[in-house]
Amino acid sequence: MDNCLFCKIAEKKIPATIVYEDDELQAFKDINPAAPVHLLVIPKKHYATLSACTAEDAPLLGRMLALAPKLAAEFGCGVQHAADGTPSAGYKTLINSGPDGGQEVYHLHMHIIGGPHPWRGQR
Ligand code: ADP
Repeated sequence: MDNCLFCKIAEKKIPATIVYEDDELQAFKDINPAAPVHLLVIPKKHYATLSACTAEDAPLLGRMLALAPKLAAEFGCGVQHAADGTPSAGYKTLINSGPDGGQEVYHLHMHIIGGPHPWRGQR
């Protein structure tokens, strides 16, 4: 879509640090990281928001979500379980939708935010 920042990144018309790519999805580093690991996963197809998706998009949305633990593990913030089951490390997955949801870029994207940061222990 013309004039969409993330479409331009998907089409490699503007640079980004791309960390994953396939036919449908792309992931790149957030330019203004909120934590030591901050990645964005986007569908290459333009959806302005999560609210532009329908049930038909469930496989695509599922693929976006399933990418989170893979990338988190790759970037060192995947959830680890000690022998007694105690979890450590971890990450937040976040999709902001609409102005009240804090969305600033109107191309669907999922944040993967990992490592110690001020949100730890909060919603
Ligand atoms: P918020 O800024 O409230 O997190 P969004 O959920 O819409 O709003 O997130 C947009 C994200 O895109 C921000 O984290 C921002 O830092 C990131 N961003 C903006 N421009 C670029 C860019 N050129 N490359 C990578 N990330 C970008």
